Amino acid sequence: MDIFGNRVVIIKIRRKEVSFMETIEFYNGHTMPKVGIGTFRVENNDECKEAVKHAIVSGYRSIDTAKVYGNEEQVGLGIKEGLEATGLERKDLFITSKLYFEDFGRENVANAYETSINKLGLDYLDLYLVHWPGTNEAIMIDTWKGMEDLYKDDKVKNIGVSNFNAEHFEALLAQVSIKPVINQVEFHPYFTQNKLRKYLEVQNIHMESWSPFMNAQILDDETLNQIGKEVNKSAAQVVIRWNMQHGVIVIPKSVTPQRIEENINVFDFKLTDEQMERIDSLNKDQRIGPDPATFEGH
Ligand code: NDP
Repeated sequence: MDIFGNRVVIIKIRRKEVSFMETIEFYNGHTMPKVGIGTFRVENNDECKEAVKHAIVSGYRSIDTAKVYGNEEQVGLGIKEGLEATGLERKDLFITSKLYFEDFGRENVANAYETSINKLGLDYLDLYLVHWPGTNEAIMIDTWKGMEDLYKDDKVKNIGVSNFNAEHFEALLAQVSIKPVINQVEFHPYFTQNKLRKYLEVQNIHMESWSPFMNAQILDDETLNQIGKEVNKSAAQVVIRWNMQHGVIVIPKSVTPQRIEENINVFDFKLTDEQMERIDSLNKDQRIGPDPATFEGH
């Protein structure tokens, strides 16, 4: 009985670990966890550090930050403490940061990258993103060439973009030699980006969603809560699962320990095709963020 009891526990732990490790594969063969934690609007203080540490201890392996969030130091401390608490190594984690407008231009990218990894206390990033395309195509392409330099010099594991639409990609892909592995964009049940999603699929570039909960605004939606009742999960968990089943990488933000845990407890259920369609049909083409075609920074 003792032995049987122990075996059950071991199997459960193994399942949990395997689940947390679920990844997607980029065209370059590198992998990325399907679920990570976001850190936008989390200030550079203890709360940020504790959230990142709690995420790692709870099983997250992917953390998303950006220079413009102003919290890379505390994200870095959270990573350090998370590694210490779990006994994991740096290579077990997948860390993303982003290059902002003031660092655009091929010659500025390496410095911006060094500054970000120094603040994070890391030797390298797993993913570095151009945060927004901006409105000057020539500068955007020149900046991407700086990203290619980093990648070719083996300083960063993967390079990608954020907030690019199909037109931005058409311009970029025509003039550069290395394709982004990922495009991180606003994506949630009220903004389902069907055309862009299909475009990226054809290009073999992964989509990653930001503001998957529409910054919490979507979590009281009736349909999401009804589906939550059907699968015995919260509306937040339903949204994360809907992302995953669309093949979209998802990085919900929370600084609340119980929610951090809740948002990764999404590997033990599946939405049916009918439930996926009900969520798809909530689309209103409603953004909360700026339109990438016109956005030039804060
Ligand atoms: P989200 O859509 O992830 O929503 C975060 C909000 O939802 C917070 O108020 C959080 O509260 C709340 N929340 C989280 N989990 C739950 C839960 N289980 N139940 C109830 N409420 C919950 O918003 P973000 O805008 O932060 O987007 C996620 C991440 O995407 C960002 O943090 C950032 O890393 C990235 N991002 C990238 C952008 C880009 O331009 N590339 C733009 C915007 C975001 P609390 O924290 O209090 O628990």
